[in-house]
Amino acid sequence: MNIILLGPPGAGKGTQAGRLEADRGMVQLSTGDMLRAAVKSGSPVGLKAKAVMDAGELVSDEIVSGIIDEKLGTLASRQGVIFDGYPRTAAQAEQLDAILTKHGRSLDHVIELEVNEDKLVVRIVGRYTCGQCGTGYHDSFKHPKVAGVCDVCGATEFKRRPDDNEETVRTRMAEYRAKTEPIIPIYAARGLLARVDGMGEIDAVTAAIEAILDAV
Ligand code: ADP
Ligand code: ADP
Ligand code: ZN
Repeated sequence: MNIILLGPPGAGKGTQAGRLEADRGMVQLSTGDMLRAAVKSGSPVGLKAKAVMDAGELVSDEIVSGIIDEKLGTLASRQGVIFDGYPRTAAQAEQLDAILTKHGRSLDHVIELEVNEDKLVVRIVGRYTCGQCGTGYHDSFKHPKVAGVCDVCGATEFKRRPDDNEETVRTRMAEYRAKTEPIIPIYAARGLLARVDGMGEIDAVTAAIEAILDAV
């Protein structure tokens, strides 16, 4: 199964993709995570992407589609994937169709997390992740079970993203509205779109997504 999780910054894409990965053995493909890894390693892609990401703007379609193509080449075609934060433009959506065909895959579901944008800023400025395994937490909404210790790997170092500040979030929201939202009707027209209320509890959102994946 190949699915896309769509929604603005802070909608819960990464949180839900992580759960599907743990519950169903699917693989999360987050272009944001891959780009951050490239920045950290100082690779040519990372050097190009850093300033764009810090500004909250979109990295070029060629770069992100290139890294998705490369990553899919390393996976068996029966390995299910969750696209998280990709595609984000009409051009990327077209490139993804070609990439999937090339790798013998097709899309099963596109799931839009519907959210109240005004509440997302709170989610984003309170977001932090485990420095070792990347598990996501939140200052108000998701604490580790033992304070200061990652539930998953036991690490005690956490980090925050440099672009998770209120000003950059506004730019990222505007980019979403201008460039990503317009691809939703394309998937609706193909009968692939399902909408889920992203404002509920994390568990309720997971249950709604699982119901879509399990429907026959
Ligand atoms: P995205 O990947 O769409 O940018 P995240 O999954 O990183 O979003 O979620 C943003 C922040 O909000 C994280 O700190 C996460 O723990 C928290 N969060 C995610 N889903 C919910 C939810 N349904 N209710 C409350 N907080 C949530
Ligand atoms: P969010 O939590 O906002 O959903 P991501 O981790 O998905 O954030 O992305 C962080 C940044 O990485 C984006 O603001 C953008 O600069 C870049 N990026 C990630 N995915 C893409 C993509 N598919 N196309 C262009 N830029 C991307
Ligand atoms: Zn951890």
